Formats: sequence, structure tokens, C-alpha cells
Amino acid sequence: MIEHLTIKEARAGLRQKRFSSLELTQAYLKRIHEHNPRLNAYISINDEEALTQAAAADARIANGEETPVLGVPIAIKDVLSTKGLRTTAGSRILENYVPTWDATSVANLRAAGAVFLGKTNTDEFAMGSSTENSAYGVTRNPHNEACVPGGSSGGSAAAVAANLCVAALGTDTGGSVRQPASYCGVTGLKNTYGRVSRYGLIAYGSSLDSVGVLAKNAEDVALLNSVIAGHDAKDSTSIDSPVPDYAAALQGSVDSVRQLRIGVPKEYFIGGLQPEVEAAVRVGIGVYEQMGASVKEISLPNTQLGLPVYYLIATAEASSNLARFDGVKYGLRVNGDDLIDMYGKTRQAGFGAEVKRRIMLGTYALSAGYYDAYYIRAQKVRTLIKQDFERAFAEVDVIITPVAPTTAFKIGEKAEDPMQMYLSDVFSVTLNLAGNCGISVPCGFDQNQLPIGMQLLGPALGEAQLLALAHAYQVVSSQ
Ligand code: GLN
Repeated sequence: MIEHLTIKEARAGLRQKRFSSLELTQAYLKRIHEHNPRLNAYISINDEEALTQAAAADARIANGEETPVLGVPIAIKDVLSTKGLRTTAGSRILENYVPTWDATSVANLRAAGAVFLGKTNTDEFAMGSSTENSAYGVTRNPHNEACVPGGSSGGSAAAVAANLCVAALGTDTGGSVRQPASYCGVTGLKNTYGRVSRYGLIAYGSSLDSVGVLAKNAEDVALLNSVIAGHDAKDSTSIDSPVPDYAAALQGSVDSVRQLRIGVPKEYFIGGLQPEVEAAVRVGIGVYEQMGASVKEISLPNTQLGLPVYYLIATAEASSNLARFDGVKYGLRVNGDDLIDMYGKTRQAGFGAEVKRRIMLGTYALSAGYYDAYYIRAQKVRTLIKQDFERAFAEVDVIITPVAPTTAFKIGEKAEDPMQMYLSDVFSVTLNLAGNCGISVPCGFDQNQLPIGMQLLGPALGEAQLLALAHAYQVVSSQ
């Protein structure tokens, strides 16, 4: 079946003219129309334009052109702006918003000849851990449709897992690539802050937001990431350093593990961790040990402060970023008696409950009298968390932890309890506070056949090494 291919396999088939990009794209669109009504991984399906892009890619292939993604059908999380294609951010307030420009990551993919199948479901403005906060309905986990796919890039993770795309873009502010990747059994990379441009990404927490990749394996993540990474003058926080050849970095990866020093932080193996998750991650660490890596216990002492600090900073930044949705500049407008009334009615009708909660929390944390006590304090602790990682990476090359305390939970199980929902991010948010990179790698299943993810954390700009390690694991464990 051509809809089950990896990027590497799809590229090989296209190059050898075993099928065309048009055939491949048509096969995916057919599959999407068959399964999306049930899974709800896509908010918008790009039927017509995808076929045009595929035909254009076929012409470039016929000309002998090569790129890592030429003619390959991919999906894009609906918080990334796509020129001419509706971009909702999972919100009613942007229901009819059609951007006039591409996000830089999207523009890079477009220039490289990728085919855009559509826009994937997300928690509203990427605020959530289950995709239940989308105004367009929940996405179902392909491994068990009664369960959430994780979030907020739940649509992208489910689409990759269910073969409704070859690979997908996601975003990660506090775990939103890694956690859904782990819940859906796919590989998900959170890039170092600034490695991929944020231009055209609808902002949630600007100092935490990053664009990442979800794919079937580390090899595919490497291929897609090589296209989207790089400096961008349109994003002042974008890193101006050359992009390594991520695919080449995978060569000889199994051998490179022999020199590897792995740190296992004791703060990540705590009460509340599902025993099967702990067992599977420890077995995963054992696989590296068998390949010759050395393992030692380390401490990231401020880990437990990650959640409160994250939910202060993320909501503060969100309250400021979301002020732009006022019925004037973008999307929905609900008329009122005067300007202020119009703002209020538009935001009342356009935002969902979780987004409103976060705007209120963030506004409170930034208000006079509380700013020093909450926001400034959180920034100071953020520095301590960053220093924890710096100290750890002086002793070890990579840190391995679970991605999340449990496997996918049932739809509705945590929807009414925001504290429980926030707790599912306990192992993922510290990385965004520090700004480093991380990757979620599938490492087994629990007794209900739900996937488990192992998290590999690296220093800033450590993507090539993380991809090589993830690849080494996937090569060895598939033998
Ligand atoms: N679950 C976290 C939150 O709700 C992270 C979301 C994300 O990374 N976009 O904020």
C-alpha cells in the first residue's frame, strides 16, 4: 500500500517512477476521506491544491530534481499559517481566517516541493494536552478510539499513526510534539528554541514556542527537519548557525552509542508514574547500555518547579499574545453597542473555556502588585531550571526520561479537571523553559496496547545527536 510509506520509501518510489506524486497524493486523500470522519485528525483537507502541488512536484521530478521531501504528502498543524489555506488554530475566533502568507517552515516545505494534505487538529491556540480543547471536536487515538491522541499536536500525531499523511509538522510549547507522539506511537522532535523560525506560527507563549516534526521514525524526522530548520531574518530569536546534515548524522549511529554517557534523572521516576511506562523506559535505556553506553543517575533538582513556572510564564505570554484577537484585525467579529462592547462580545463568543481561563490566569500574573510575586519570580526559577540542564550536560551527553507519566487517557477523563490535565505535562515542560531539544521515541506498549514513549533530551542544538541516538535505537530494536 503506498499510503504506508515512510518519507525515505516514498522518495525512492517517486525517484524510480514506481508511482507519481499525484497517485500518492490521491491515495492519501482517499484514505483521509475514509477515516477522518471518525478520527478527526484534520480540520481542513486541502483537496484541490494538494493535487496541483503534486502535479508540480511530478514535473520537477521528471526534470531530475531532488529534495528530501519533493512530492511527499505531509500534514501541517493548524497553528502554522498557510497561504490561501484556512488556518484556525483550533479556535472559533479564526474559523474563517485565510492567511495571505506562509509561515517560514511552511514556505520552506513548499519551496522544497512537499504536498500539503491539510491542516491538523489542535487544542485551541495549542493550549492543552489532549486535543479536547479544539473548537472542531476531539481527535481520536488510532490505537484506541476511546482515548485521546495527546496534545496539542494531537491531529498531527494521529494522522501520522493512522497513515493519513507521511509525516507532519507540529509545535511544542510545553510538550505538544513529544507527548502526542508518545501517545500515538510515533517519533516526535522538539527543536531547540530558535532552530526553526517562528514566523507565521500563531503565537502561544513566545519564549517557549517551537516548531517540530512528527514522523514514523527518526530517519524521516531528520529528512523533514533538514528542510524546515535554519536562520530566518523574519524571526529575531531565530538562531544564526548552519543546519547540520541531519540525515548524514544517522550514519554509524549504532557505533557512536559506545562512547555515550546517559543521564537518568531521579526526579523523573516518581510516584504517579505508570509502572509499565517506567519499565518500558528502563528497558529502552538498557538497549543503549547493551550497545555500550554508560548510564548514571543524575539530578535535575528543580524539576518539580517546572509545572508552576511553566503555567505562569505560558499563560502570561498567552494573555499578551491573544490580545490581538479583538474582532478588528483577524477572524470573527460580533457587533456590539460600541467598540469595547464589540471586543467583549467577540472574545466571549470566539474563545473556548480553556483559552479564557489562561488569559485570566496570565493577566492576573502580570497585573500590578502580582507581577513581582509571580511573573518575575517564575522567570528567576526558570533560570535555575536552565542551570540544572547546563550542569547535567557537563557530565552526560543525553538525558533519558519518560515523555509523560501515563499512556493515553480516555476522552473526557481529565477534561473537567485542569490540574489533572496540567500534570500530564510534568516531564515535558522543563525542556521548553530551558530551550533545549528533545525527542520522543516509541519504546513499547502497555497492557491495553497503548504506546509508550521514551524521551531523549539534549543540549541546545543537539538535534543531530538526538536523531542519531533515536535512529540507533530503532535500528537495533527492529532487528
Ligand atoms: N500541554 C501544555 C499546555 O497546555 C503544552 C502545550 C504545547 O506545548 N503547546 O500548555
